[in-house]
Amino acid sequence: MKEDIKVTVDRSKCVGTMTCMYASKGIFYLREGKAEVKNSESHSAESIMETAELCPVSAITVIDENTGKQLFP
Ligand code: SF4
Repeated sequence: MKEDIKVTVDRSKCVGTMTCMYASKGIFYLREGKAEVKNSESHSAESIMETAELCPVSAITVIDENTGKQLFP
């Protein structure tokens, strides 16, 4: 079952460590030294949350699209 979650990257916070790209293949890519969301459709909410938690500057935000609740950070 695909969870309805929305993932965004705050590029003003991102410091380009690429941790999120190594941790979850395919969700993020690097553009001009900072992360962008590429494709989160095929990833579980759990793996997206785990990846967001690894970001050293909490630049990745995860929102439950059904409730509007912010799941992370
Ligand atoms: S882990 Fe965080 S700081 Fe590092 S590239 Fe991803 S979003 Fe940017």
